[in-house]
Amino acid sequence: KQQQCVALIVGVTGLVGNSLAEMLPLSDTPGGPWKVYGVARRPRPSWNEDHPINYISCDVSNTAEVEAKLSPLRDVTHIFYATWTSRPSEEENCEANGRMLKNVLDAVIPNCPNLKHICLQTGRFHYVASVVDWKINGSHDTPLTEDLPRLKTNNFYYTQEDVLLEEVKRKEGLTWSVHRPGTIFGFSPYSMMNLVGTLCVYAAICKQEGAVLRFPGCKGAWDGYSDCADADLIAEHQIWAALDPCAKNEAFNVSNGDLFKWKHFWRVLADQFGVQCGEYESESESESESQVKLQDLMKDKGPVWDQIVRENGLASTKLEDVGKWWFSDTILWNECRLDSMNKSKEHGFLAFRNSNNCFLSWIHKLKAYKIVP
Ligand code: NDP
Repeated sequence: KQQQCVALIVGVTGLVGNSLAEMLPLSDTPGGPWKVYGVARRPRPSWNEDHPINYISCDVSNTAEVEAKLSPLRDVTHIFYATWTSRPSEEENCEANGRMLKNVLDAVIPNCPNLKHICLQTGRFHYVASVVDWKINGSHDTPLTEDLPRLKTNNFYYTQEDVLLEEVKRKEGLTWSVHRPGTIFGFSPYSMMNLVGTLCVYAAICKQEGAVLRFPGCKGAWDGYSDCADADLIAEHQIWAALDPCAKNEAFNVSNGDLFKWKHFWRVLADQFGVQCGEYESESESESESQVKLQDLMKDKGPVWDQIVRENGLASTKLEDVGKWWFSDTILWNECRLDSMNKSKEHGFLAFRNSNNCFLSWIHKLKAYKIVP
C-alpha cells in the first residue's frame, strides 16, 4: 500500500493556506486524500471549519511554542509554508521571517523520517526590492523571470530562501520549491494582504454612504495591463511541485496566465455592489496632494463598517482586519510588474485561470460567507 501523503500547512487560514486546506483532503486531488495539519495563531474561524484537517494553534515566531507543538509530529511528508510577518524595516523583516521558517523546519525535519518536500511561498517582491519600499530601491526590467539575479538590497524572501536551502541539507533526498506569486486573489478575512476583500469592503462603504466608487490608483494601473494569481491556482502549483519530480529544487513564478485592466474590473466591482462606477482621476498638478488613497479615504470609516455588519447580519469583523488600505494603495498606485510563466510550463505545469472569472468568484465567496454584503 502506498504511503499516505501528510501535509503541514503553515498559515492555514491565510489566502493560500485556506485553499490548500480545502483542496488537499479531497480524494481527487493529486496524492489525495491527504492527511493535513494546519497551523495559525488565532482560534480556528468558522469559515475554515468545513475542511477535515487537524488544526494546531501555534505562533511560529515563538521557538519554544513551535518546539512544544510541532516537534511531536512524526508523519509529515510535505510542508507548505505560506505565512509571513511584517516589521517596520526590511532588516527586521529578514530577521523575523527567517526565524519563523527556521523554527518550523528545526522542529519538523529531525522528527519526521518520511519528510520529502518543502514548498515555500514568497512573491514577486523578490524582483522588486522590498515589500515596504518597492519604489525606492529599484527593480528588474519586466517580464520577470526566475533566473534574474538578486537585487543588492535586504529582502526577507532572500533570507527565507537561504534558510530553506541550508535546512534541506540536513536530510538526504529532501527537496524544495519556491513559489513567487504576484497579487493574490483569494478568500481570507484573516489575511494581511487581501486585495479583493479590501476592495469589496471599500465598495460596500461607498454603497452605504451613497458615494461614487472612486478609483484609488495611478493611470498605469487603470489603463495598463495587470495580472494576478488565483489562490486555488497557487495551491495547485504547490501540490504539483510537491509531487512532480520535474519541479524539484527550483523557484517558480505563479500567475493566472492572462492579463486584465483595472478600468474593466472597476465596473465589475461597481456592479457587484450596486454603486456608481468612478473613473481614473488625473493626478496632474501637485501629485502627492491629488492622489486618491484608500488610507486617507477610509481612515474614519470604522463606525460605518460596524453599521454595515450589523444591518446586514454579517460575520463579525473589524474594519482594520478586512480593509488593508496600505496594500491596495501599494498595488493600485504602481504599474503592475508582469512576470513570465514560461518556466512553470516548461517544467510541466500548464494550469491557468481566467482572471475575470477569478475576480467574480472570490467576490461571490466573500458574500456567501457573509464577510461583505
Ligand atoms: P496571509 O496573510 O493571507 O495569511 C497568513 C496566515 O499565517 C494566516 O493563517 C495567519 O493566521 C498565519 N500566521 C501569521 N503569523 C503567524 C505566526 N506567527 N504563527 C503562525 N501562523 C501565523 O498570507 P499570504 O498568503 O498573503 O502570504 C504568504 C506569503 O505570500 C508571504 O510571503 C507574502 O508576502 C506572499 N505574497 C502574498 C501576496 C498577497 O497578495 N497576499 C502576493 C504575493 C506574495 P493568524 O494571524 O491567525 O496566525
